[in-house]
Amino acid sequence: VEQQARFAPLSEQILSKLPNATVVIINHYKELFNRRKQCFSFQKLSPKLILANKRPPFLYPLSKQCQPFFEPHVFYTTPMINCVFDCSFCFLKGMVDSANIVIFVNIDDFFDEVRCAASTVGLDTSISLHISYESDLLALERLTGLCRRWLDFAHTIPNLKVEVRTKSGVFLKKAAPLDRFVAAWSLSPDEVIQKYEIGTPKLFARLSAALSAANQGFLIRLCFDPVIPIDNSAGVYGQLFETVFRTIPRRSILDVGIGPIRAEKSLLKKMKKVNPDCDLFWDETAPSSEILAVELTETLSRFIEKEKIALWQSQS
Ligand code: SF4
Repeated sequence: VEQQARFAPLSEQILSKLPNATVVIINHYKELFNRRKQCFSFQKLSPKLILANKRPPFLYPLSKQCQPFFEPHVFYTTPMINCVFDCSFCFLKGMVDSANIVIFVNIDDFFDEVRCAASTVGLDTSISLHISYESDLLALERLTGLCRRWLDFAHTIPNLKVEVRTKSGVFLKKAAPLDRFVAAWSLSPDEVIQKYEIGTPKLFARLSAALSAANQGFLIRLCFDPVIPIDNSAGVYGQLFETVFRTIPRRSILDVGIGPIRAEKSLLKKMKKVNPDCDLFWDETAPSSEILAVELTETLSRFIEKEKIALWQSQS
């Protein structure tokens, strides 16, 4: 815990839920988190929690590897870095040197910055904010309550749209729905989940959570992302689409994203170093994932209007 974050209300809340934790006071989270020569895969076996204050900037433009989903002013923010799950294709493995999880406890500073950005663009323009790209915020909701805080905040800013991306098997209970707060589920066939999305909830659990959000009145974004070439990909993904569109009511589906495995070359190199035996990093996998995404987009259009499908394709 950073010295200056020790008595923040969110630190107190989190620490009260971890009564057996050994608390080590540090100066700046980067002294630990950005240390050289850390072993990501070893730390992943028992990640530690770091509570810290985020310093500016709080908003970042969306990277080319991410999908803007038909929105013009799109940003992402990082209330948390790293994730309790362990997906083989996670770009975080190439981006950060540590598997420890950082939670930024100065949430009001994030809100101040977003409020300022929203007022700068003017009320007749919306800004879209992705709050869960470098983590899975909902997966740690019981500990942090951060998703609910963001939802409450979004209710107060009329030109703010928020996307929370997740693989979680739970959603907020009894939350006040808001059309501008989109719950986006990353969905994969169980064959992929079992092999490449270690520790994540099974498809059934994710769909149950998405259905619970839909039943509360939230709009759902379905993300088939990344699609992974496996035996009988067309059949397995076709079955996945059948199950998903049979489960989530059409009126609750805002849009659908689909895309291949993607990361810049330098990231891929580092990801491969963390997972040297993983077949996702074989040279032919990424191109065949691109082809598969295009083919599956056709299949998807049998389930939902084409205008609602956002296909991510390589920018090169
Ligand atoms: S759920 Fe997302 S953030 Fe978490 S390990 Fe998987 S890809 Fe990474």
